[in-house]
Amino acid sequence: MTNPSILILPGDGIGPEVMKEVRKVIDWYGQNIGLVFDVSEDLVGGIAYDTHGTPLHDATMEKAQQVDAVLLGAVGGPAYDNLDFGLKPERGLLRLRKEMDLFANLRPAQCFNALAEFSSLKKEVVSGLDIMIVRELTSGIYFGEPRGIIEEGNERVGINTQRYTESEIDRVARSAFELARRRGNKVCSMEKANVMESGVLWREVVQKVHDEDYQDVELSHMYADAGAMQLCRWPKQFDVIVTDNLFGDLLSDAAAMLTGSLGMLPSASLGAPMANGRPKALYEPVHGSAPDIAGEGKANPIACILSFAMALRYSFDEGKEADRLEAAVESVLAEGYRTADLLGEEGVDPVSTQQMGDAILAALNATL
Ligand code: NAD
Repeated sequence: MTNPSILILPGDGIGPEVMKEVRKVIDWYGQNIGLVFDVSEDLVGGIAYDTHGTPLHDATMEKAQQVDAVLLGAVGGPAYDNLDFGLKPERGLLRLRKEMDLFANLRPAQCFNALAEFSSLKKEVVSGLDIMIVRELTSGIYFGEPRGIIEEGNERVGINTQRYTESEIDRVARSAFELARRRGNKVCSMEKANVMESGVLWREVVQKVHDEDYQDVELSHMYADAGAMQLCRWPKQFDVIVTDNLFGDLLSDAAAMLTGSLGMLPSASLGAPMANGRPKALYEPVHGSAPDIAGEGKANPIACILSFAMALRYSFDEGKEADRLEAAVESVLAEGYRTADLLGEEGVDPVSTQQMGDAILAALNATL
């Protein structure tokens, strides 16, 4: 049997710094658990533009299509701000998402107990929170036609179109139900069926997929505005939330802030299953390239390390190993390790990116 394969794309800014720590974790699994990955590394974003004159070389795109999972750091930076739109670092990331057809964006909002005081909500509301937002990523109002700004009479009109086909809703609903089966077995679908026809269709299709193939999963429906209120009021009522591109964009950002720092937030984008049954997959931290702290050893590597934990769970079916890694992160936070972005308490000195990575490795060693 061949080893599972990972393509690492560290990218720009703090991307390479945090990815170095992830690489240590990947190697730890090979050396200590016998979980060996075939890891290759390539360029994306500004560094790919500097080297190849394009933010994503065709050969890199080709590799991304072949591997079991892509792990990306971050792209972008002020040096590339004036490039033509098509050459900007972010286009590399968008090309990966588009050509791999990654239609389900998974954004967990997980609150580690040691960081509960970082949330803007009361500690008891967020402590132990573990929810997953599944956002449809490749359709909806960000892509629908017609779109544009037109002249009408003596004024201009801005137009965007919310459009969903049954098959687009069906496949993202299935992703959400499959995820729920590996978690708390509950899905809440959010739309605005009260005022939008696309919401009516969304609700019907999600219900149909449930009734035909996922009756064992508890399904509820909620209007997205009510959902936003409930996320702030009592987020622990949710397990998996599935929603469209626009509402998912808003709700996942709001949910992210329930948990505190940007340096803690992982994400996954999944596509259709490949021949080996694994979904096409791209894992990346939610944060950007943080040019303000790049090269200073201050970046928090946890978002990127937790993105690898998601890869263990969703691409490699290694849920127990993902639990082990998440528990290691929880334990270093409980011990008081804090990168600069997590400081708040008096008298705590920040650790560096590398020290945080080493502490997580030590916590992994302690589990053996
Ligand atoms: P950012 O996420 O890079 O940074 C926002 C703030 O959070 C900064 O103060 C930064 O220092 C801090 N921060 C972010 N990640 C951190 C970490 N791991 N540890 C500690 N602190 C962290 O967002 P921005 O400043 O709006 O964008 C900077 C660049 O990143 C831009 O070029 C932008 O286009 C790009 N960007 C890329 C992605 C991506 O690659 N997916 C996402 C967002 C922004």
